[in-house]
Amino acid sequence: MKQHDAMYIDGSWRPAAGSGTIDVVNPADGQVIAAVPAGSAQDVDAAVRAARAALPAWAATSPAERAGLLTALRDQLAARAEEIAETVTAELGSPLAFSTAVHAGVPVAVCGSYAELARSYAFEEKIGNSTVLHEPVGVVGAITPWNYPLHQVVAKVAPALAAGCTVVLKPAEDTPLVAQLFAECVDAAGIPAGVFNLVTGLGPVAGQALAEHEGVDLVSFTGSTAVGRKIGAAAGAAVKRVALELGGKSANVILPSADLAKAVGVGVANVMANSGQTCSAWTRMLVHEDRYAEAVELAVAAVAKYVPGERVGPLVNAKQRDRVRGYIEQGVAQGAKVVAGGPEAPRETGYYVKPTVFADVTPEMTIAQEEIFGPVLSILPYRDEDDAARIANGTVYGLAGAVWAGEAEEAVAFARRLDTGQVDINGGRFNPLAPFGGYKQSGVGRELGPHGLTEYLQTKSLQF
Ligand code: NAD
Repeated sequence: MKQHDAMYIDGSWRPAAGSGTIDVVNPADGQVIAAVPAGSAQDVDAAVRAARAALPAWAATSPAERAGLLTALRDQLAARAEEIAETVTAELGSPLAFSTAVHAGVPVAVCGSYAELARSYAFEEKIGNSTVLHEPVGVVGAITPWNYPLHQVVAKVAPALAAGCTVVLKPAEDTPLVAQLFAECVDAAGIPAGVFNLVTGLGPVAGQALAEHEGVDLVSFTGSTAVGRKIGAAAGAAVKRVALELGGKSANVILPSADLAKAVGVGVANVMANSGQTCSAWTRMLVHEDRYAEAVELAVAAVAKYVPGERVGPLVNAKQRDRVRGYIEQGVAQGAKVVAGGPEAPRETGYYVKPTVFADVTPEMTIAQEEIFGPVLSILPYRDEDDAARIANGTVYGLAGAVWAGEAEEAVAFARRLDTGQVDINGGRFNPLAPFGGYKQSGVGRELGPHGLTEYLQTKSLQF
């Protein structure tokens, strides 16, 4: 696997200040495939200085110029899609078809959308006797997780660059290779030195140094709620902007009038995609008690298609595998019924977990409250719509969800009752322009499309 033993800072690959490295492991077989430098606070400081120095000239470019460079970046990502997919499969473990369609495909669409938005967005507006300028926030510190490793990078870097901000990225330690590939694409696109900088390293070292650096104006973080809380607190103390995309425990609410087979089939597929490592996954399926037994049967049949090593990959590392298995054991201990899968390892090598379905789950159980981040589905019965809404809204999270009904209007009426940032109606497909982000403890701020762009802008009002 291609790798750089350096950081991408100020337009070139530079050796790290220290000599520590981080091994990159293929989760399908546990083999070390590469090593990248473990950046220190010194490397972060060099990167932030480069970003700060590049800011005035970049912020002064015309939106059309930035649009042109983002188009070039999009073209680089598209041209190297195959390499990107292979890299993500090697370091994350997702099946190649999924890596190609989603991990490589979605970032091309998102980057392209920001090239368009840079061109079309109104960076100036008139309000009465004022002209309001939408100006870049400044230097962005971006900290990303491993589950959608390139998407989460592009969902921050593309709008930041479109806005006229400069960026320092600290990617997840499990998936640094695709971040290095991204830096190569930025370089090849001709984006000026210092506008984008990459520091690989550990969260509590490089990540924390970036989040706390006084030269960073906005911290944009995606990952666990525990780390997000710390980053939010540090940003609050420093009075700097912060965007947090955190966990979820989304409900898939199947109303009695829905096409049950379709709703269950799509629901199972949604949870199994990316081995369940999706923050917006519909991990709680809510079914009316009259159709509950039928839904459980359908889910068991649907999950049988997800054979570990074929349609479903391993988890990203041994720690996540153990964590997910721990949750499955806890589900059993609290009285839920395993109707498919279970805690045993499905393969001798690799960090695989059996695709698992729980029935007889009650809303208070740990598996119905906490984000498991693995291929585990809980099916819960409800009595009536009020009960369904209460259960759906009964966690600390509010990231996403789904509603199924015979008619879209009926589903929409129920969706209005959900405390969540996104709801897919009768299987509505992912929209890379729709605002993505959470209610409640799922986060602060929105990514993607024009709403994602405004996160990186601040306003200045001129009165005439
Ligand atoms: P994490 O929050 O520990 O890591 C996410 C990013 O933050 C990584 O780049 C990491 O290096 C960095 N980081 C870690 N500690 C930091 C610190 N103190 N200061 C600054 N940066 C720091 O998440 P994880 O350990 O990779 O995953 C754990 C759990 O988080 C998962 O099981 C899942 O529940 C959740 N998660 C959610 C999402 C999401 O998209 N919402 C993505 C990944 C993980």
